[in-house]
Amino acid sequence: MENSKSSLIPHKYFIALLIFTTILCLSLVAPANLNLMHLLVLNKPKVKIVDASANSQQQVAEFKTAMEATLNEQLKRQSLLSAAPSSFNGKVIYEIKQKGNKKVIALTFDDGPWKKTTQQTLDILKKNNIKATFFVVGSALQNNPQLGKQIIAEGHAIANHTWNHWYHFMNPQAAAMEIDRTTDLIYKVTGVKTNLFRPPGGHLSNGLVAHAKRNKYATLMWSADSRDFQRPAPATMVNTVLKNARPGGIVLLHDGGGDRTNTIKALPTIIAKLKQQGYSFVTIPELLELEEKK
Ligand SMILES: [Zn+2]
Repeated sequence: MENSKSSLIPHKYFIALLIFTTILCLSLVAPANLNLMHLLVLNKPKVKIVDASANSQQQVAEFKTAMEATLNEQLKRQSLLSAAPSSFNGKVIYEIKQKGNKKVIALTFDDGPWKKTTQQTLDILKKNNIKATFFVVGSALQNNPQLGKQIIAEGHAIANHTWNHWYHFMNPQAAAMEIDRTTDLIYKVTGVKTNLFRPPGGHLSNGLVAHAKRNKYATLMWSADSRDFQRPAPATMVNTVLKNARPGGIVLLHDGGGDRTNTIKALPTIIAKLKQQGYSFVTIPELLELEEKK
């Protein structure tokens, strides 16, 4: 016991001496106006702050990565909502032939987004809990980007209907401008890349569809024309749609490009009557998926 005690004491003294010497040396090295204790005390929290900030920086980075991953996933999902399956690339589609008993139909709205009537269309679709496809005009989307965002936010598909809605012949450069510029803006506004295209007026040989085919767009026509651009009475419009509606069909309507008051008046009845006939409503990509699965 004695031995072990006596062997400990010199160690204690040695450590104490070492600390004292170190403090003394530091005091001499440190500037005269800087208290050593302050130096030690101030340095310690500083280290802690650096650590804390490194931790929070790491947490922020992790949070950012997680957020980006979620957003990317969401965008991928939304893009799929506005994209045709690859087997339809370069094809022109009027409707699909459905097998089975399920009656589906796709409502499509062209020439928007227009402030009042696109909003009214979205409200009617929401109220009925159904999804549709909007073939937007680039210049109109530029004027109403918020409605473009809303179309996607509310689960509808968005598609390309050119920039200027021209009918005349276009050379490859002009056709490329009309289509690519619109696709780029749709992406910029909504984050969605669409490969769905509809030529204005349904013109298939003015250079636009040639560009669409070369660039693997699916060209979507229609099987049931509401002829709403002629502004018939709402009841007439309802009858025209119902007369031409069939399973796997595509209904052409307009939410922009002119006075669409009658389309807005007819739309709730069109939906109600189609529901009565047992139809459920799908977007164009969903419709094409059904054809794919056969
Ligand atoms: Zn149009």
